[in-house]
Amino acid sequence: MEINESPRHKGLRKRLIDGLKIKGIRNEKVLDAIGKVPRHLFMESTFLQFAYKDQAFPIGAGQTISQPFTVGMQTQLLEIEKGEKVLEVGTGSGYQAAVLLEMGARVFTIERQKELYNKVHKFLPEIGYNPACFFGDGYKGLPNFAPFDKIIVTAGAPCVPEDLKFQLAINGRMVIPVGSEHRQEMTVVIRVTENEYKIEKHGDYVFVPLLKGTVNF
Ligand code: SAH
Repeated sequence: MEINESPRHKGLRKRLIDGLKIKGIRNEKVLDAIGKVPRHLFMESTFLQFAYKDQAFPIGAGQTISQPFTVGMQTQLLEIEKGEKVLEVGTGSGYQAAVLLEMGARVFTIERQKELYNKVHKFLPEIGYNPACFFGDGYKGLPNFAPFDKIIVTAGAPCVPEDLKFQLAINGRMVIPVGSEHRQEMTVVIRVTENEYKIEKHGDYVFVPLLKGTVNF
């Protein structure tokens, strides 16, 4: 990644990584991946002072780029191995997808807002990231491409969507924030057998809501 990249960006990212370690992101592969993705390029303008702060930030269309700690935690809980097929629901800025690609995953990502989809599926390849981008309703997943080794939902869901459960491979893991509009519990759903699922809970978060259907602007 050589686009718009300076020692200053690298230095700020190193500081961000040091902060994430202290907050509990321990998986070295996750920290390395976050250390490689130029987060400042994923924002509306180059707000350098915000790009490498550990906070969420508006990306337009009423949406946000997730806080790096949240990206780190969700990615750590996914337990990604190189070459795994991963479905992301909620492309947003494309930042989380880039982190997954840096970990060697094959990424399929869905966004329900046309404006964000249009922007990101052009922008990501320009900076060297090539996930398969889809415009659609993530509640339905991508049945034609299932099963997935891992599924990550980056918006707060009222419950675990049935369609997504069925699109998990056996032994696959889904990481999804589940709860009310104001607070969600980070939930890991593991498909143990064809019909059995195991659920783990990993603390409280606040995400923008997972909404049904698509919007054409
Ligand atoms: N992963 C993103 C975070 C995006 S915020 C990033 O790294 O920047 C959540 C995103 O989920 C928003 O872009 C929102 O439009 C999208 N979203 C909400 N409901 C959705 C649905 N049903 N299907 C697909 N995307 C959805």
